[in-house]
Amino acid sequence: MIDTNQATPELARAAGTGGSVVVDRCQVCGSTGLESVLFLGYLPPVNQMRPLGQRPHEQPAYPAELLRCAKCQLVQLGLIVDPAILFPPDYPYTSGTTRILRENFAELWRESTGILGLRGSELVVDVGSNDGTLLENFRAAGHPVCGVEPTLMANLANERGVRTIMSFFGPAAAARVVQECGRAQIVTATNVFAHIEGVHGIVDSVLAMIADDGVFITESHYLMALIETLQYDTIYHEHLRHYSLESLGYLLGMHGLEVIHAKRIPTHGGSIRAYAARRGARPVLPSVGRLLDEERAAGPLADRLQAFRGRVARSKVDLHALLKDLLGRRARIYGVGAPSRASTLINYTALDREILDCVVEVKGSYKVGKYMPGTMIPVVDEARLFDDQPEFALLLSWHIADELMPKLTERGFRGGYIVPLPEPRIVGGASPSRQVIE
Ligand SMILES: [Zn+2]
Repeated sequence: MIDTNQATPELARAAGTGGSVVVDRCQVCGSTGLESVLFLGYLPPVNQMRPLGQRPHEQPAYPAELLRCAKCQLVQLGLIVDPAILFPPDYPYTSGTTRILRENFAELWRESTGILGLRGSELVVDVGSNDGTLLENFRAAGHPVCGVEPTLMANLANERGVRTIMSFFGPAAAARVVQECGRAQIVTATNVFAHIEGVHGIVDSVLAMIADDGVFITESHYLMALIETLQYDTIYHEHLRHYSLESLGYLLGMHGLEVIHAKRIPTHGGSIRAYAARRGARPVLPSVGRLLDEERAAGPLADRLQAFRGRVARSKVDLHALLKDLLGRRARIYGVGAPSRASTLINYTALDREILDCVVEVKGSYKVGKYMPGTMIPVVDEARLFDDQPEFALLLSWHIADELMPKLTERGFRGGYIVPLPEPRIVGGASPSRQVIE
């Protein structure tokens, strides 16, 4: 989603190849000391979904291997796919501004205003600003704001009064921001900083926009959350890097930045928010040391990842055991939700339409009327869940299961729930099948 023209000397670039590049050295430090952590097999691009009725045709699938850099501890994907393949012209961009995200952005505004002592006059720039939801918080407090967003969402943001430059992010966009708006006190990048190849070029472009005492705030899916709650399903080709505070600090340190505040936030099943400033420009808050201590106290990363690998494999056979039992009783099972992570789970655990009758998605989703990537499982309107009342619903957005289950039950679903991860389990429901099983 972001301009990828800047050259990284360390690693060949996938952009423009029409294919992929094998990661033969660390995306951040360039070290060739990469250790294989996990291999999930070959995964199809998550956003290439065939319309229902179309026979399967030739489709690419890319190896999903997770690697750990022994030098900077970055956990990263072992293959980078050309963004033109992952984000084709008809890529259905959606705002993705759920309630959790909206609350998180409001909290980010409150927190940064307190920590940085903002007066309301400082320029705030958001990279990958989508429909302007994050910036809206700052604008309402009086700040001049500027978003950079490559998709049509930029128009939506401008219409609601959030100034947005429609462009991929890179040196040219950064120069335009500075020329038109001046240098920023805050630059934010939420849920994009792990997605772009050539990360050094991105940091350089961010630095070009930031005032001397300005702050760069990033939010990314957090490696520790991935390990703790077995979120292997967040591994797919859009996610090139999975940061810990240690590896994020290493990357930013290469650019003369230091992390001055860091904490865990609840978005996307567990993310990390970090504030970085030029070294010495701002006091470092105790939160940084605390989170680093927490990471170290959990044990050596190599050992943790080794255990993670075993748990991932076990969760797959445990899920199969649970499903075998249910299918033996002729229970119907519908999947609920088709986020990108659902594709990884379904493909890794090899679910097909003989197991999952269908996957239901909210009305109006572009995914309705298509097949789940790599399968013949149809995605249908969620009304089907309430009309058909299958015995079980498999939650593919299991990371928000606690929020989802009461909602679906309240709306009239009477079946039981299968939560596939971290340990496959059955929750609730009043169907006869469930009673037999338990
Ligand atoms: Zn490295």
